[in-house]
Amino acid sequence: MESAEAKTPGEAPDRPAGNAAADHGKLSCPACGGALQPFSGSELLRCPCCGLCRRRPLDEHRNREALVRHYRTADPREQVARAKAPFFEKALDVLEEAFPARPRRLLDVGCGGGEFLQQASRRGWDPAGIDVLPEAVAAARCLLPRAQIHLGSLPEEVSIPSGLQAVTFWDVMDHLEDPAAYLRAAVRLLCPGGMVGIRTRNVAVQLLMRRVDDFLLALRRRPARRTFHVLHRVAFTPESLERLLERTGLEPIGIANSPLTVGDPYGLAPRFPWIRMLKTAAAPIADVVSAASGGKMLFSPSLLAWARKP
Ligand SMILES: [Zn+2]
Repeated sequence: MESAEAKTPGEAPDRPAGNAAADHGKLSCPACGGALQPFSGSELLRCPCCGLCRRRPLDEHRNREALVRHYRTADPREQVARAKAPFFEKALDVLEEAFPARPRRLLDVGCGGGEFLQQASRRGWDPAGIDVLPEAVAAARCLLPRAQIHLGSLPEEVSIPSGLQAVTFWDVMDHLEDPAAYLRAAVRLLCPGGMVGIRTRNVAVQLLMRRVDDFLLALRRRPARRTFHVLHRVAFTPESLERLLERTGLEPIGIANSPLTVGDPYGLAPRFPWIRMLKTAAAPIADVVSAASGGKMLFSPSLLAWARKP
C-alpha cells in the first residue's frame, strides 16, 4: 500500500499535474485523476489507471432528484437495511475496538430510516445521520428522537458538530457525483484518529458477473440485458477506492471483501437464478482467495474500507 503524500487531510488535488487529457477539458477520474475513457457504449466511462467506472456526470441538482426517485421507486430500503443488520454489527465491532471508551459519536451518511444508527445507539454510540430522502429522514427521527438527523447532502450541511470518532458510508459512495467532496467533508468532521468506513460495490467483480450473465443468456439464445443494473453513478475497484482514500489524506487504509447482505432483499433471484449460488459458494471462496493472497485479491461483489484521519 502506498503511503499518502504529505498534504493536509481533506485536501485533494482536482487532477494530477501534467495530465494532458485533463488539461484539455476531458473528464478526469475522481479517484486517481487519470483521464476517463469511453467504455461499453457512450454512457459509461472507465479509468485505465485504476479501473473506476462512472456514468457521464449530472449536475448536483439533477443527481439529487434522480437519487430521490431511485429510493422511492427502485430500492426496497427497509428490506435492504434488515438484510444488512449482521453487517452493521460487524462494523460496530471494528469501531468499538478502535474506540472502546464513551462518549463516542458517529455520523452515518445516507442513513435511510436510521436502522444502523439504532444498532449503534444500542451499543452506546451517540449517533447522527444525514439523508436526501425526506421520508427516510422522518422515519429515522421517529426511530431516534434524540439523535440529530439532517435532511440534505454532507458537503453542504455545515451544522454538524465536528470531533466525531467515525463517519460511515454504507452503499452510498456509488450514488455520488463527487465522492471526493463527501470524503473531504467527512474528514473535516472527524477527530484526529477518527475513522471513515465505506461499503461499496466492487465493479471488477460486478463486470465479471455481467459477462457470466450475458454468457448464460446466450446459451439460452436470449439477448443480453440492456440495462447495466449494478452501476449507479460511480463504481470502484479496490485500487480506485484506495487511491481516493489516499488522495483525501487518510492513512492507514484497509480494504477487504465486505460481508454480504443476508437473503435476497432486492428480489433478484427470479431474474438472476445464480445469485443464491454466488452467495452460498462464491463468497466463502472469495474470502479464502483473499486470505491466501494476503488481502491483495478481492473477489467479493462488495468491498469494505476503513481509513483513519492522521
Ligand atoms: Zn482512476
